[in-house]
This record gives sequence, C-alpha cells and structure tokens, in this order.
Amino acid sequence: MKVAVIGAGIVGVATAYELALRGVEVTLIEAHEGAGLATSFANGGQLSACEVAPWAGPEIPGLILRWLGRDDAPFRLRPKMDPDQWRWLLRFLMRCRASARHERIPPNLELALLTRERMASYEAGFRNEGRTLDFDRRQKGILRIFSSAHAVRAGAAEMETMTRLGVEQQLLTPAECVRIEPALASALQRGEIAGGLYSPSDASGDAHLFSKQLADAAILRGVTFLSDTTVEGLVARAGRVHGVATSRGVIDADAVVVSAGAGTTALLKPLGFRTWIYPVKGYSVTLPAPEGNAPEVSITDEARKIVISRLGGHLRAAGQAEVGGYDLTLEPARANSVLDALTSLLPQVAPRAGQAEFWCGLRPMTPDGSPVIGRLEPLSNLFINSGHGTLGWTLGAGSATLLADLICGGLPQLDVSPFSITRF
Ligand SMILES: Cc1cc2nc3c(=O)[nH]c(=O)nc-3n(C[C@H](O)[C@H](O)[C@H](O)COP(=O)(O)OP(=O)(O)OC[C@H]3O[C@@H](n4cnc5c(N)ncnc54)[C@H](O)[C@@H]3O)c2cc1C
Repeated sequence: MKVAVIGAGIVGVATAYELALRGVEVTLIEAHEGAGLATSFANGGQLSACEVAPWAGPEIPGLILRWLGRDDAPFRLRPKMDPDQWRWLLRFLMRCRASARHERIPPNLELALLTRERMASYEAGFRNEGRTLDFDRRQKGILRIFSSAHAVRAGAAEMETMTRLGVEQQLLTPAECVRIEPALASALQRGEIAGGLYSPSDASGDAHLFSKQLADAAILRGVTFLSDTTVEGLVARAGRVHGVATSRGVIDADAVVVSAGAGTTALLKPLGFRTWIYPVKGYSVTLPAPEGNAPEVSITDEARKIVISRLGGHLRAAGQAEVGGYDLTLEPARANSVLDALTSLLPQVAPRAGQAEFWCGLRPMTPDGSPVIGRLEPLSNLFINSGHGTLGWTLGAGSATLLADLICGGLPQLDVSPFSITRF
C-alpha cells in the first residue's frame, strides 16, 4: 500500500514513521526544506500529559473582554472578513462551559499517555539500532504556579479530577514550589507565588530536534521525503482520493493523510470538508540559560500566561494567543511581552535578554481543544491527523499510532470516536 502524508511537522513525521513501522510505503510531502520547521519549530517544549484541559473554559470570556484592545495582552482578537474565523470563535465560546472543558480531559489524557508510551518506544528503537534520539528531553516534571488563593483552589479542583483519572499531581505550598524549583526563589520573596500544582511524570523537550531525527529515521525505514514540495490539491473522484497534486507533479497514492497543521483547512475545503481548524498565533523566545540559577523543571506561570522549558543550554518561554488569520508577521510588542513575562518571573535571565531569539507560529486549533483524527467519509481512503492546537507535541505520537492502525486495518489502541470530525 502506498500512502502520501502531507506535512512534516511533529504530527506528519510521527504518522509517516508509524506507517513505516507497519511496512507501509510512505511518501512524506513538505513545503519547507526540512521537517519540523513550521509550528513544531520553537514551541513551549512541554510534554504535558497532566495538563491537557482545553483552553476554552468559564473564565475565558471575561479574560477576553478584560484584554480587549491591549496590544501586549496574552489574548488578542483580530477580526477578519472570514466566516471561518467567526464560526470558529462562536464554537469556541460555546465550549467555554466547565462541563465542556471536563468532557475533553479524559480523551486528551489517554492520547497524551499513549504519546508518552510511543515516544519511549521510539527512543528504545533508536537505542537498539545503536543510535540516540536526542531532543534535549528533560524528565523533571511540570510545575504550574499560581498567584492567588482563588487560582490555587481551581488548581486543587483540577487535581481531584486528574487523581480520579489515575494521574499523580501534588498541590504545593509556595515554599514547596521553590524546593522543587529553586530558580523561583526571588518570585517567592516578591510574594508572587500563592501555591503550585506539580506533575512529576511530565517532561519537556525540543519538538524540532525530535521531528528532524524521527524524519531521518523514517527515511532509513524507506519513507520517501519530498521536501520543498507544496501540495496544491487532492485528486478525488468516485468516492476516493487517487493522488496528490504538488508543485513537482501528481503523486499517486492508495491513501492520503492530511497532517498539514494550520494548512489543513485550505487543503480540505475544496473537497467540501469543514475541518473546524483555525490558526491561533503564539510566540516564543529562546535564550541562553543563566549559569547556576536556571530552572530545571518546566514551569507554567498561570498569571503571566507563559510556559518555560529548559532545552539543553537554553531556556525557552512561550505564550500569547492571537485569533487573527494566517499572517505570520512577528510583532515586536507581542514577542517582547513574552520576554518581559519571563524576565519578570526570573530576573536572573535578564542579562541574557540581548541574546533572545524570537519566533511565532500558528497553532492549528479546534474549538474544543482536541485534535481531529480519522477517516474523512465519504472518501474511503482520505484521512486527517491535525488540529492539535496547544498540545501537538504532547499528543502527536499518540495520534500518529492511532491513525496508522486505522489505515492498516488494525484495531486502534484507543477509541478514536472522541476525535472524529463529525463531533462538531
Ligand atoms: C507558541 C507556541 C507554544 C506551544 N507550546 C506547546 C507545548 O509546550 N506543548 C505542546 O504539546 N504543544 C505546544 N504547542 C503546539 C504545537 O507546537 C503544535 O500543536 C504542533 O507543532 C502542531 O504540529 P503539526 O505537525 O500539526 O503542524 P506543523 O508543525 O505546523 O506541521 C505542518 C506541516 O505541514 C506543512 N504544510 C502545510 N500545508 C502544506 C502544503 N499545502 N503542502 C506541503 N506542506 C504543507 C507545513 O509546512 C508544516 O511543516 C505550541 C504552539 C505554539 C505556537
């Protein structure tokens, strides 16, 4: 069987690799010159299985109103003359109920735990072949810090849910937060930490390094990687897709997977599919870690709305959400607000601010915070693996293995119905 996979971000690369493991002949098609160069390039680095709740929640409409008109606000809406944007926003607001948020936690968690398992298995596979899958993985947990008693109470309620689902989290006092991560000592002295929620089994790592190395490993397993190749459309007739029209000609395929991140909607719209995937722009800043007092544990600062990960000798902070279309212009005010948030939490980083590298990317986001995985009926051989939003690094390998099983006729390890496109 010949399968064409469109998009070599973390999701497409993992899908190609999983298919190759099952003996499938795969062509991986990517517009950029290599793997992991779009949204998977410089994300927040968190592998946050214990933090998989969707963004949409009861507090969000109030926050959006509070932040309206502020250029450096963590959330910004840039209205477009695009019905997709308004439809998406409406759906997103309709999901801002506590029950809707809770409903998504169990399937996302299962997928994240499957991702952990698959990533560990890839690492073991590399080791068996005498190589290392080296992506600056750090297994030190994720610590979410809160700045108010109200936020600590909300964290405690979340912990109860996660405990019921079998995941270990620890509610920490301010002093315990600093014991887990001494780099936060000055924040404690300033009275900025009211408590924390620690997920010891979570981790962090560099999604770009991972995508690149997994793509190389896929090539070694026989995957044809067509980089610098743009997919212009899908060739469909009589209930099937027959191939992929690219800037280098048509590629024939028995099945096609669309894992094109924020580019997914444009590819599927001409075939009449509404994906409900819309871009939400985010920013990151990466700089050399300060010597001696850099965080080891990945941190989520709930009040500043940033995540921080140590990646090798560097620190990365990421945040911001802008619903404003597909424009990838890096706006200095928004990029700097991530840097400011980082240096205000960790002043020891400030002397390195001059070496900061800024980046922005488009999260391919669904309104309910879960990806879309599965067959695109009525076309019998067209599949989607996209819409991972804020969690593509955390959920990518799990969704890849589910889809590979579906394509190969095996029984997926999890129920895929919560990720079906028909749920919208
Ligand atoms: C600021 C920020 C911080 C984040 N932090 C985290 C985090 O801490 N943890 C986490 O789990 N997730 C995080 N995410 C989310 C995560 O990065 C994304 O969900 C993930 O990278 C999406 O991967 P993807 O493979 O679907 O998309 P992408 O990485 O964008 O890959 C899609 C690929 O498809 C290609 N493509 C698109 N259209 C075409 C076409 N027509 N022809 C050929 N190729 C095409 C693109 O070039 C691209 O390479 C963050 C995102 C952002 C922006």
